[in-house]
Amino acid sequence: MGLSTFLKSLDIFADLSDREWFILDENAQGIEYAPDAAIIKRGEIGRFLWIIQEGEVKVILPPSGSAGEITILLKTGSLFGEMSIMTGEPAIADVVAATTCRLIKIPRETLSKLIAGNPKTLGKFARLITERMLSNARISAQHDHQRSAYRLNEDPYDLNFSSASEPLKILVLNSGSSSLKYSLFDTIRNLTLIEGAIEKIGSGDAAHHIRTPQIKHKDAQPDVMTMNEAFDVMIRTLTNPEFTAIDRLSDLNVVGHRVVHGGGQFSNAVVINENIMASIRSASSMAPLHNPYNLAGIERMQLLLPAVPQVAVFDTAFHQTMPSHAYTYALPHEVCERELIRRYGFHGTNHEYMALRASTWLKRPLGELKMISCHLGNGASLCAIDHGRSIDTSMGMTPLEGLIMGTRPGDVDPGAIIHLMKNASRNIEDMDRMLNRESGLKGISGKNDMREILAGAEQGDVRCTRAISAFCYRTRKYIGAYVAALGGLDVLIFTAGIGANSAEIRAGICQGLDLFGIRLSHDRNLPGVEQGGVLDISVPDAKVRILVIPADEERMIARKTLHALCRVRTIEETRMLRSKPVPISVSAHHVHLSQPDFERLFGQGKTMTPRSDLSQPNQFACQETVNLIGPKGKVNRVRILGPSRKESQVEISRTEEFQLGIDAPVRESGDLAGTPGITIEGEAGRIELEKGVICAKRHIHMPPEDALGFGLRNRDVVRVGVRGERELIFGDVVIRIDPNFKLDMHIDTDEANAAEISVGASGVIDSIQHRCYM
Ligand code: ADP
Repeated sequence: MGLSTFLKSLDIFADLSDREWFILDENAQGIEYAPDAAIIKRGEIGRFLWIIQEGEVKVILPPSGSAGEITILLKTGSLFGEMSIMTGEPAIADVVAATTCRLIKIPRETLSKLIAGNPKTLGKFARLITERMLSNARISAQHDHQRSAYRLNEDPYDLNFSSASEPLKILVLNSGSSSLKYSLFDTIRNLTLIEGAIEKIGSGDAAHHIRTPQIKHKDAQPDVMTMNEAFDVMIRTLTNPEFTAIDRLSDLNVVGHRVVHGGGQFSNAVVINENIMASIRSASSMAPLHNPYNLAGIERMQLLLPAVPQVAVFDTAFHQTMPSHAYTYALPHEVCERELIRRYGFHGTNHEYMALRASTWLKRPLGELKMISCHLGNGASLCAIDHGRSIDTSMGMTPLEGLIMGTRPGDVDPGAIIHLMKNASRNIEDMDRMLNRESGLKGISGKNDMREILAGAEQGDVRCTRAISAFCYRTRKYIGAYVAALGGLDVLIFTAGIGANSAEIRAGICQGLDLFGIRLSHDRNLPGVEQGGVLDISVPDAKVRILVIPADEERMIARKTLHALCRVRTIEETRMLRSKPVPISVSAHHVHLSQPDFERLFGQGKTMTPRSDLSQPNQFACQETVNLIGPKGKVNRVRILGPSRKESQVEISRTEEFQLGIDAPVRESGDLAGTPGITIEGEAGRIELEKGVICAKRHIHMPPEDALGFGLRNRDVVRVGVRGERELIFGDVVIRIDPNFKLDMHIDTDEANAAEISVGASGVIDSIQHRCYM
């Protein structure tokens, strides 16, 4: 039977329209497998739905706990792979051909197109997925398959583009005032086809460095005087048959642009349209040396490739999760509000890459790690990363704050600047030059290149010695501060020119940090690491892993570009369903208790007394309430929600944090490692929780049917528009999918007040902000 005829015979596709059949026919692919051939490897992230046309396959769940290996045989007509597509999590089983077999492979994107506009097909898939989710939940409850599958996944955060199911050529551009850097990625081969840098444009001394997997060379290009000329050189190079990158410019599928400043508006990469261009333009006043050139690069590419999507990837985006106590300057409030004066942070793309790369290498989920990333190059910054979120970074409103850098001083008493301006009547240009070009390592030692400074110190130059100790001391001081900000540390990362290459500087920084569990092994602290590699330089039994990871902003920009494109496509494909409203429930503070804790508070043998049902099936508010007691104050009569849980947990709002005197992190329910404790008072006693107080992340409960309709996967993060008294868009809303859930968004009282939301309000999913790749 031919592929089309076979697909037509399946009930699951019986309701497709002619247009949908055409899409399916175009994209489904038939493949033969010999007996024992591997089809899906445990740990892989699903990109395809598979259907058995002929033969049989074995699904093999590994031994776990006391249970042995489980093998399930699937026969002709069966589907598999749909779970991994739904959850975005790694496959928990190996799938192997049991006999010679013929399989049909359908890309995830094709499936969402078929489902998006076809309610009957959507319903059929939803039923199938619900059944499998429930049976998987039964299996997973007994064995920790999901966690062990994670450890097998080579690329859980998609750093090697494993999520791409169609071939894409992504051009990454970084256009500055006098340089143009570019890289061309091929997502299927996970390869940089070509990378180049045209430097010193307009100086009469411009040069073009080119590197391909085979060739590395440098061309003098003294005639390149303008940015447009540099673009022409780049395009001629990309399409030059000698480099075998692309045949013609239109072979590019998407262009990703590095944009330095996104202001407070962008928390992820975005596909560029006119509004986005206007926002980048308005942030230009905060980055006059960067944004205008980034914009010029975007405009040039729009002109050359009007039909190709362009994506902006912001240096500031990763730090948008910083809490207000970290980004606020203690300057007059009105001035800060009016002139957008706050800390934004930079190097975000590389700091995020560090977090993902370290987590992949350690084979530990991002969501259980506290990390400090030290980006030490010409520009330098530290970032404190709690469970994947930037909670503080050393650069501020501009890249001048924080560490000592090549030519920038980092932290300086603002009074010193006023004094300098008053005393020798230096004007703004003088100060700008001093702070951006004449300070930092160069100011102290006369040199800005760390290699020269190290060589100078070796020869007894005391100014070089002082520059090195001041650099290391400032960095060490920030590490100490960030251990305090994070409340602990699992991973310390060194990256960029100095961080990735200088063993001596790393040793200087780590000195005396044993008290935090930071113990550097002098044998392992070797000079360099190859691109794409990771070096662990901590002593084996140290509490904190110290890793050296070369910077790779280009790869991260390519990955973010790819994901921004996929997010927009998903939203476009599901536009019809997207208008379905999401009901909103305002959850006031509440407490979940374990049964033993409940008995300690209310008396031995006592159980929870249901008072009213909650919107989610089987969940209820209890008659019983407790009082919360923090170091500063008390919150009385906080409702307990049932049924009992494995671990007790207290969810409060930001306002109550202040009332109690507790600084609780924003976390997903159940993610309690490293959270503060609290005293809880019940009728019959008190308990001291050692941990468990969180500010719950906004979230939407969703059954699989809605998730398929919206094109969303478990733990994706979306923006939701709310039509209350005040129109508002909530970002950072996490999707949670479970067959037992009813569609419902949960926000806390502070958030509801901000949008002036009353009972019966609803929201609309506006866009996908972040996709979960684990
Ligand atoms: P940028 O911020 O311009 O991207 P880089 O990340 O390339 O900067 O870092 C440049 C810095 O790294 C320079 O100070 C350079 O001296 C330093 N560096 C590069 N290699 C070494 C090395 N082997 N030892 C010490 N410093 C190094």
